Amino acid sequence: MRTPEFPPTVADVVTELERRYPPAWAQEWDRVGLVLGDPNAPVRRVLCVVDAVPETVAEAIEARADLIVAHHPLFLRGVSSVAPTTYKGRIVHQLIKADVALYVAHTNADVAEPGVSDALAARFGLTGLLPLAPPAVGAPAHGAGRGIGRIGKLPEPMTLAELTRHAAAVLPATAWGVRAAGDPRRTVRTLAVSGGSGDGFLAAATTAGVDAYLTADLRHHPTSEHLATGGPALLDAAHWATERPWLDDLAVVLRETTGVETLVSDLETDPWTVHAAPPAADDKEPDCEG
Ligand SMILES: [Zn+2]
Repeated sequence: MRTPEFPPTVADVVTELERRYPPAWAQEWDRVGLVLGDPNAPVRRVLCVVDAVPETVAEAIEARADLIVAHHPLFLRGVSSVAPTTYKGRIVHQLIKADVALYVAHTNADVAEPGVSDALAARFGLTGLLPLAPPAVGAPAHGAGRGIGRIGKLPEPMTLAELTRHAAAVLPATAWGVRAAGDPRRTVRTLAVSGGSGDGFLAAATTAGVDAYLTADLRHHPTSEHLATGGPALLDAAHWATERPWLDDLAVVLRETTGVETLVSDLETDPWTVHAAPPAADDKEPDCEG
């Protein structure tokens, strides 16, 4: 642990992050690690975010953070320019000008134990946690408890309709809210959760034999087919809301291992900003309700 006079460097913080979330555990297509910033620069304050976007970059600069730790990669594919005339180039310029480093822990934080979906599972009080999709034997991330998503038991059984309302209450609030697919009266005792876009794990949720599976970014056809073939009920939450809970754990890891001051961004970076439900049948004359 360093003192305020001798703060850790970016390299020191990266070392601790990679002890918990080894880059080798990331999926092959993923791009994790230090995106920009001088490894020798001192770090006193870190902002934890899901997305490094102009709004959270402004938040970091305003808070005088020295480092942003983000969940989503800024660059996933090759680029030939970081000119400030481009969306991402502008972010790069702002960060470098303000001397703010940027680090990404993505699928390596998803598979870690505890990882992104443990924080999500904790919001539901799930017990007896097991990974939804464990890494293959021989894969770098293979190990006890590790894998994408978690399955566990709810403290009390509830119907799908109740669970959907419960999910909207325990997850960070978003305009998107939570929607569910399946019989609203279905009893849910066991739940699978996966932070982020989890429709690649629909088959794993079926194999796991859970009553319901909560993730984000679910689509019409895979959802319909999944339900038609007897899969668990599905809950579709906002992507940001499923990953935001992990930031609190990340902040604890950073504080405990490096002594830095941590801030967690609550700026909702989910792109959906408006949600409308059709008026209920008994709700057609709102003016009469006073
Ligand atoms: Zn994500």
